[in-house]
Amino acid sequence: MSHKSDIEIARAAKKRPIQEIGEKLAIPPGDLIPYGHDKAKVSRDFIRSLDGRPDGKLILVTAINPTPAGEGKTTTTVGLGDGLNAIGKKAAICIREASLGPCFGMKGGAAGGGYAQVVPMEEMNLHFTGDFHAITAAHNLLSAMIDNHIHWGNELGIDTRRITWRRALDVNDRALRSVVTSLGGPGNGFPAEAGFDITAASEIMAILCLAEDLADLEMRLGNIIVAYRRDRSPVFCRDIKADRPMTALLRDALQPNLVQTLENNPAFVHGGPFANIAHGCNSVIATKTALKLADYVVTEAGFGADLGAEKFLNIKCRKAGLSPSAIVVVATCRALKLNGGVTLADLSKENPNAVVEGCSNLGRHIDNMRKFGVPVIVAINHFHADTESEIDAIRAYVAGKGAEAIVCTHWANGSKGTLELAEKVAAIADADEAEFAPLYRDEIGLMDKIEAIATGIYGASTVSADPSVHARLKRWEADGYGHLPVCMAKTQNSFSADPGLRGAPSGFVLPVRDVRLSAGAGFVVALCGEIMTMPGLPRVPAAESIGLDADGNIEGLS
Ligand code: ADP
Ligand code: MG
Repeated sequence: MSHKSDIEIARAAKKRPIQEIGEKLAIPPGDLIPYGHDKAKVSRDFIRSLDGRPDGKLILVTAINPTPAGEGKTTTTVGLGDGLNAIGKKAAICIREASLGPCFGMKGGAAGGGYAQVVPMEEMNLHFTGDFHAITAAHNLLSAMIDNHIHWGNELGIDTRRITWRRALDVNDRALRSVVTSLGGPGNGFPAEAGFDITAASEIMAILCLAEDLADLEMRLGNIIVAYRRDRSPVFCRDIKADRPMTALLRDALQPNLVQTLENNPAFVHGGPFANIAHGCNSVIATKTALKLADYVVTEAGFGADLGAEKFLNIKCRKAGLSPSAIVVVATCRALKLNGGVTLADLSKENPNAVVEGCSNLGRHIDNMRKFGVPVIVAINHFHADTESEIDAIRAYVAGKGAEAIVCTHWANGSKGTLELAEKVAAIADADEAEFAPLYRDEIGLMDKIEAIATGIYGASTVSADPSVHARLKRWEADGYGHLPVCMAKTQNSFSADPGLRGAPSGFVLPVRDVRLSAGAGFVVALCGEIMTMPGLPRVPAAESIGLDADGNIEGLS
């Protein structure tokens, strides 16, 4: 049992030079572009040279509806990757990069926890290899070029009231949600209402994560709709001539980052879209590269399976032609109790009845994942306060669903805590029983897609939306965007749009408040309920506990 903090464990890691980690995947040292001793980008040329190689098996780690601290998906992804390596398999993991927003806000780091972490965790949680900064810069270059175009005469005829492109920053800052730009006189442009989104919610982030290569990246950037004219015709990023300089800014950021786990196994950490307002998984390039180099690739999709896994399967896998072999649903006694009606303050108290009550949430997620044709196994991420009676309750419930729940202690024990899960997952993947298919077809209408997710995944009876929402979806269909998948923006706390509705609610109406077209990323965002694209900091932000010790080590990241 560990009594050390995540950062203390991470700092004590016996890291190997990154070239040795690359060697495990047969990446020649010359094809690694080192960022210091323990981080490297994998070169574009090397990635291109992998074309035509067979793919390994893809394993998705997802979870039930979480507690605010997170249920340990990243921790389990790392632990399972280490477990697979420990039983002699060639395995790599693929996770997202961290956003500074949650890091200094509430949720803490994104490198896993306990003895299942990726290192260097301080750098991964802070500036890392600069990808987020590059994305922020590319985003704001476009914003500046739009305003500049208008300043110098607005040849494209942009309706300045209908500029949809905002600005981006990787900090939780509620003051920037809604601002006025260009105050101070004619030399500063035309005053306009504007606003900032967090970088993890930028369309550029989604594009970087879905792009297949540089040419595809540039094409997608060019396709971004930045504004409309008075006749409602769209103005594209390529009309502003920003697509090429943005691609130049993003060239290096598109190469995936290689780091290592505490047990010196390869970990690709690349891209970081949020899962509540964006599609929530690491880059297609990193996942595809890992699949060419490893026999098993373990990856994570954010928040509960209703948000993260649904979008991983319906957006990322559909668009990138990926096909997962197994899905691991992470459950914790804590989150099951929360879903069973217990308050946050009482989650550490033994309460098997509440666990049983909360299993309805787990059950819905298991059923949902099976709708995609992929075999499911449950990982119980073991916490110190868990009791036998609670764990037995989960095991019995999952057995009743014809699946298996495996207790995992990787947070406390590293790969030793996931050996059984690793054996079972490898066996499921090797059996090749998955028959993956997305939930809905490209050809159905955009509102039908929203309804398919609302009723088929969330348990809603129907969807409600203003006529203006219906009208916009219809117009986008007429404009040739009807084939796009839908990216649902919803609370992570419930299957419904009401964060207080725990367990497995059904029969509710899902309100679709607004819809946005991300023509570059290639999806339509449906905003259900109040979803912030720029979070705020809590009363006591995590930032207050982050700093340096006397030796200049970073403290306070978790
Ligand atoms: P997720 O990816 O689901 O959001 P993480 O893996 O990032 O969750 O874990 C969230 C936090 O919970 C981390 O700080 C991690 O150290 C902690 N954590 C995860 N699993 C355990 C566990 N079994 N016991 C105690 N803390 C844990
Ligand atoms: Mg995570």
